[in-house]
Amino acid sequence: MTMPALMPTYARCEVEPVRGEGAYLFGKDGKKYLDFASGIAVNILGHGHPHLTKAIQDQAATLMHVSNLYSVPAQWELAERLVDLTFADTVFFTNSGVEAFECAAKTALAYQHVNGHRERNRIITFHNAFHGRSIAAISATASEKLRTPFEPLPDWCDYAPFNDLDAAKALITDATAGIMVEPIQGEGGILPATPEFLRGLRALCDEHDLMLILDEVQCGVARTGTLFAHEQYGIKPDIMAIAKGIGGGFPLGACLATEKAASGMTVGTHGSTYGGNPLAMAAGMAVLDIVAKPEFLQQVRDTGERLTAALTQWIPNHDDLFVGVRGAGLMLGLQMTEATRPFVNFARQFGLLTVAAGDNVVRVLPPLNIEESHIAEFTSKLTEAANAYRTAKANGEIS
Ligand SMILES: *Cc1c(COP(=O)(O)O)cnc(C)c1O
Repeated sequence: MTMPALMPTYARCEVEPVRGEGAYLFGKDGKKYLDFASGIAVNILGHGHPHLTKAIQDQAATLMHVSNLYSVPAQWELAERLVDLTFADTVFFTNSGVEAFECAAKTALAYQHVNGHRERNRIITFHNAFHGRSIAAISATASEKLRTPFEPLPDWCDYAPFNDLDAAKALITDATAGIMVEPIQGEGGILPATPEFLRGLRALCDEHDLMLILDEVQCGVARTGTLFAHEQYGIKPDIMAIAKGIGGGFPLGACLATEKAASGMTVGTHGSTYGGNPLAMAAGMAVLDIVAKPEFLQQVRDTGERLTAALTQWIPNHDDLFVGVRGAGLMLGLQMTEATRPFVNFARQFGLLTVAAGDNVVRVLPPLNIEESHIAEFTSKLTEAANAYRTAKANGEIS
């Protein structure tokens, strides 16, 4: 047999982490890695955070899962906290980002449906967007890489270039139900929406009674230095998908909506067996205990500024390889002059973990509670890696 037991959908790297501690991962061979990938923006409190670990341990021993046949008081508690902290009036809990996206899309379609607009059943999305890997989510992206080999896919989205307000406006028809956008594109390469673009989309949605759906699965939950990225744009969505950071490593997502936007989400319209189980709620609550505090958010903004400043200072000495740094808070992208994957792979031997993204960007996604020393360690490892990379390239060792 040539087919491996594990379906070969990932090109996994050689690192085999067996233990984590704060901002570090330890490989099977004992090697220590500075983890500035955080499981792709998930481990926002780092590894083995005592408050999160204890909450999960205690809850696992008390009650792990009951299903949504029964009342789950912790769901009310976490939902009320999210409602207090955001634009939203109501929350649906999921286990992942793509499920939060699904619920967000269904909420928008149902809104139009119950308000007498059955014909409004299409969503405008953007080039380079990433909303997950379900059939609905890959059909919400124009990216051929994600779509192939699943074509033909359901045809329910129209795609505009990101940050092009006129193009989005031109796509609005009688069939448009809403507009779905990441305030900062993550997989697409840490590309922030411009304020004019996001505010313009809000205005278009208001004008045409469309749902503005934000996908904050990657940029949300304190990552950018505010609890949610859209707060920095001075706008509010109608519907928002979140996941990644909210469980701090425990699989958890949510769809948040206003009362108006959720008017179609009545009994029987949506569900999930695991969604919102007591264990996940304990994790979400423990994360919010820490990251929703103004002092914590301020610290993320300060740390983000220091890391950005350090990288901005570092780049001119490495401008053969690196172009610039962009992003917000601790969601940063280092743009390279060439494809990033070989460098990201190469940097691992120097104990540095980052993530490649679109548009030749190295994603820098540290835990949100890193300290000054981690920034210094990061730039010094980056220097080591860049210098060795240059030599290896000159010797023809990098393809
Ligand atoms: C990761 C991600 C998703 C999908 O989340 P999963 O938990 O992998 O399903 C959706 N949207 C954005 C913006 C993401 O970064």
